[in-house]
Amino acid sequence: MTLQIDNATYLRRCKRLCHHQKDRKRPHLIAKYGMRCFWCGYSLTPETLTIDHYIPLSKGGSNKIKNLRLACNGCNNKRGDAMPEETPQIIAQKSCIRFPSHWAIPKYHLGQRVSLGQIVGLEYHPPGTLRAYELGEGWSYWVCRDEMSDSVESCKEEHIKPLSPAEIKEEIQAEIDFHASKVTALTEQLEEVRQHD
Ligand SMILES: [Zn+2]
Repeated sequence: MTLQIDNATYLRRCKRLCHHQKDRKRPHLIAKYGMRCFWCGYSLTPETLTIDHYIPLSKGGSNKIKNLRLACNGCNNKRGDAMPEETPQIIAQKSCIRFPSHWAIPKYHLGQRVSLGQIVGLEYHPPGTLRAYELGEGWSYWVCRDEMSDSVESCKEEHIKPLSPAEIKEEIQAEIDFHASKVTALTEQLEEVRQHD
């Protein structure tokens, strides 16, 4: 069962819980920044939030409230004592998915436009697993043929071909044209609404 509570009640409850912990800084930070990780925006709970020093203590930062932020455990750990300006990059680098070195390197990457459409997901099936038995060993890709629909299909690596630079150009141009026509239609609609205002 999921318990539905509104945001205000949730924040009140968080603040109360924090008060019980005799920590008066947390409610201030929650009120100021919301229950989100300052770095990645991830929703926090009273159990998962950590207090992060914007300028690390080791680099001259203080314990004053203006130097404190709320962060998820992951971001807080990953940044270590990095300065704020280098933090997003460090967190991004450490958030990369690493796979075992004995896996083959995938030929295609996420977001790449290929012969069958655009790659929106990757999956590796190690030898000896049920997925490999059912779908074949190695990399398979989730490909979206038509951006207007949500449907994706799974394709084995050998069934995918890269596009030539000219083909990529053509695809991107087609997408630009499509969006441009949409913008024109929306602008016309907006103009119509304005006239009736
Ligand atoms: Zn985070």
